[in-house]
Amino acid sequence: MYYRDRSENTMGLERSRSPPNRDIEITDVQTTVVGGNYEWIFVRIYTDAGVTGTGEAYWGHGVESAIREMEPLLLGENPLDIDRLYSHLIERTSGQGSIAGTIVTAISGIEIALHDIAGKVHDMPAYQLLGGKYRDDVRVYCDAHAGEHASSLDANEISPEDIYSPESYVDAAKDVVAEGFDALKFDLDVPSSHVKDRANRYLRHPEIDNMVDIASAVTEALDDDVDVAFDLHWTWSADSATRLAKQLEPYDVWWLEDPVPPENVSIQREVTRSTSTTIVSGENRYRSDGERGLIEQKAVDIIHPDMPKTGGMRETQKIADLADMYSIPVALHNVSSPLATVAAAHVAASIPHFLALEYHSRDVDWWPDLVEGPVIEDGSIAVPEKPGIGITLDMDEVADHMLDGETLFDEE
Ligand SMILES: [Mg+2]
Repeated sequence: MYYRDRSENTMGLERSRSPPNRDIEITDVQTTVVGGNYEWIFVRIYTDAGVTGTGEAYWGHGVESAIREMEPLLLGENPLDIDRLYSHLIERTSGQGSIAGTIVTAISGIEIALHDIAGKVHDMPAYQLLGGKYRDDVRVYCDAHAGEHASSLDANEISPEDIYSPESYVDAAKDVVAEGFDALKFDLDVPSSHVKDRANRYLRHPEIDNMVDIASAVTEALDDDVDVAFDLHWTWSADSATRLAKQLEPYDVWWLEDPVPPENVSIQREVTRSTSTTIVSGENRYRSDGERGLIEQKAVDIIHPDMPKTGGMRETQKIADLADMYSIPVALHNVSSPLATVAAAHVAASIPHFLALEYHSRDVDWWPDLVEGPVIEDGSIAVPEKPGIGITLDMDEVADHMLDGETLFDEE
């Protein structure tokens, strides 16, 4: 990796001046990757004070190697200067793509590890470093899938509408609620026998009718205290998305997520402003500047960043601060292991206008075993009071699920 030359500006201090108990240096940066339903990329930063911090970056090609290649930019630096080191990494990797993309994701994992170190050195939980908390417990929404009824059907008679039936969604929703969640999300961009051309981004009326049947069945089957969102994964044209969103207006849809491709903010705004159905986007954008257009143009009703992807804990808080100026609440997209999920819960606790944090690993039964102690209980996360992120990886579980070729961290 080619960094900007060291003689160029590197965000201020050559060497920070701190009292002896906070005059510490980064001595090592290690990574390892666990294969869950996504790749969970862990980074551990070691210091000469004997304190280590562990972070996690969102999955992505080259993220782990990017973290490793940034090690020379961190060695000898004081890990307590979180913002300065974050800016330092962003600036030094600007030619590599630190405006948006996997370089930002790599820096996000490092930034979380720095918060873990700082919390341990200051003997306070990470949320306290973010200005304190608005809530003790963070509401979690569970990503869920339907369609398992297919096995009971005659293979000759089967159609996508049979597999992804409203009944299968209702049954899955009731299962998730029975597991303690009062907030959930389903994919609504399901296969359909009515599609004429999958590439043209056009929703035909029978496809819309099918989606409305699913959404209405789920929302009407659940109690009013349960919230249900639906994801469209950037699939449709503005016209199609608007027709669907308007037909969903009579139903109690919590939000409709990513109806149109993510690049064009003005098109996103057009859809959002054309319907009373709540529209959400933001998971494919990076840093506060990347989310800024959606917020300033009121192109979303709820902003939906992914903390360990978009820049880390402080950057997500900056996105939330900007959104608050425009009266836009925050939900947090998340597909991480328990480590970054809990780190995101610290951020969520520090945001006043926060709605819910995603849990996306219902199908991975060892997800909670990756860390010591409970994570999600009764659909929420009790924000840890231990120093730092306040959660410890179970290294035996990490070893069991590490990808081939990965190595465990050294002892803390
Ligand atoms: Mg999504």
